[in-house]
Amino acid sequence: MSNCAIVGINWGDEGKGRMVDLLTEDYDIVIRYQGGGNAGHTVINEYGKFALHLLPSGIFREGTLNILGNGVALDPENLLTEIDDVASKGVSVTPKNLKISDRASLLLPWHRDLDCLEEARLADKKYGSTKQGIAPFYSDKYQKKTIMAGELFYPDELRAHLRDLLEWKNLTLTRVYGSEPYTMTMLEKWLKEACERIMPFICDTKELLKEAQRNGKKILFEAQLGSLRDLDYGIYPYTTSSNTTAAYAPIGSGCPSAKVDDVIGVVKAYSTCVGEGPFVCEMFGEEAETLRKAGFEYGAKTGRARRVGAIDIVATRYGVEVQAATEIALTKLDVLSYMDKIPVCTHYLVNGEQSDIFPFPCALKDAKPVIEYFDGWKCDISKARSWDNLPKQAQDYVTFIEKEIGCPITYISVGPERDSIIIRK
Ligand code: GDP
Repeated sequence: MSNCAIVGINWGDEGKGRMVDLLTEDYDIVIRYQGGGNAGHTVINEYGKFALHLLPSGIFREGTLNILGNGVALDPENLLTEIDDVASKGVSVTPKNLKISDRASLLLPWHRDLDCLEEARLADKKYGSTKQGIAPFYSDKYQKKTIMAGELFYPDELRAHLRDLLEWKNLTLTRVYGSEPYTMTMLEKWLKEACERIMPFICDTKELLKEAQRNGKKILFEAQLGSLRDLDYGIYPYTTSSNTTAAYAPIGSGCPSAKVDDVIGVVKAYSTCVGEGPFVCEMFGEEAETLRKAGFEYGAKTGRARRVGAIDIVATRYGVEVQAATEIALTKLDVLSYMDKIPVCTHYLVNGEQSDIFPFPCALKDAKPVIEYFDGWKCDISKARSWDNLPKQAQDYVTFIEKEIGCPITYISVGPERDSIIIRK
């Protein structure tokens, strides 16, 4: 397979980072094609433990070219913090191994403010934003009210553009939210302190990718979050503000003619969901607390405790369809080793009727989970490196999920480290 996308099938946090880190060895180029600094990919490797937010996970591999595509929310301040963090642990990040599309739009300083102001206005009706400015950024991008990274090389046009945006945005900041206005001096400071340092990384990645495709280079597309957070197909409005689906990879990465040959959908062996929104299979009380602790389910960016539940076959099957996944990586199977009986949400009951169809977002609140229990294996599986090393109960659990979601499970992850993996193909 030449090109591959690694995507989330559920609500995000499925362990995409560890899968990209594992597979980058086989690819020449890794591209982040959507999202911003609002979620984190956790990667554990020989350099240490990292929570990557914007940097592509291929940054740790020598010889791999990493690209931030035009579809990302490019937050220069966050990106620099991340570059400094990985550099401090011995990972070299230079314009040779990291390139930023000149068509990536910039997350401007007021986007974070607007996120906080709007969440405060919404009070108890809030969507659970990570307050990184992502929703205000994408709405401004589609209103054509932000700037593209390449504009940094045109100082006169850039300043004229920023002055126009400033005048417009101050109307919202002051009149809608009663907040302080921004000034050109503040923007000049941001240009100097944040933008100047990222300029060496910015180039026309479209031309570079055309050349790479001509030369048969293999591309890995890296997504953030999961199917159920996709702006169009997810649990709107509790979605993110971009398309998390593999179908968006060619657009957001800057190679619109690329064919995505293989889509690896990452599914966690149980469910987790951060923030607000309907979550049919949610567990509560002690059962939830024990699973949360076993899986260390706390947000990589915010530290927020994640909501947890049984694996949800209805939502996962839908996620597989939305991503057009060709194979599945099932992660964190080891976390379930403590359970006597493993719950699986096999169907939904909607208004008393059993259903296998993932409902329209408004109807999710009426869906109740139908839970079946599988025998636990009650032993440590974190050292298993082949299918035959897995106890029969674990094999039965995996085989059942595979059959129900209709997609082959080719990777089974039994620990966070790069080599804690069973490859089944
Ligand atoms: P991502 O955004 O999809 O990359 O997911 P996160 O990084 O937010 O969450 C995945 C978490 O699970 C990270 O802390 C990983 O180190 C950890 N992890 C990934 N795979 C496994 C696994 O198979 N077993 C265990 N125990 N932890 C894992």
